[in-house]
Amino acid sequence: MPTQPQPCTDANCRRQHAPAERVALAVSLCSARGARLTKLRRQILELLWESGRPTGAYELIEALKLRDSRPVGPPTVYRGLEFLMSQGLVSKIESRNAYVPCAHPERRHDCLFFICSNCGASVELEDQRLECLISEDAAVIGFRASRRVIEVEGTCKSCIAAGTA
Ligand SMILES: [Zn+2]
Ligand SMILES: [Zn+2]
Ligand SMILES: [Zn+2]
Repeated sequence: MPTQPQPCTDANCRRQHAPAERVALAVSLCSARGARLTKLRRQILELLWESGRPTGAYELIEALKLRDSRPVGPPTVYRGLEFLMSQGLVSKIESRNAYVPCAHPERRHDCLFFICSNCGASVELEDQRLECLISEDAAVIGFRASRRVIEVEGTCKSCIAAGTA
């Protein structure tokens, strides 16, 4: 039986959702919106979910080549990433020039990423308190925010435990 999408309603979600379920959710969101999630776009999203860390476009191109044994050009991959970002399915990590899947494409939220500078792993959380603070601050200066992605660099739990960082 194919994996069924299970939209998440916890606005302060601390859960790590299963990649297959999140990809199934992306498929159903796109079909409800009439957006075309082509095979390639879906593969890019799957690869990002499997990776577990911010992944650059050229790494994706290599992985796609291995998966499909047919070369995919950079413009195609960049267009695919643009599409996935426009649908809120993927976020760009500017500090790494790399991409991660957004954990909750089913709702509007600020993406808060914790990125390990040692192993590169990233975890996305949501925090309504932070979202309120940013909205309040933006209102004070009359600023209209368009993209709200917060990147926190540091050392993850496993790397601290392993003593490698
Ligand atoms: Zn959730
Ligand atoms: Zn997100
Ligand atoms: Zn780490």
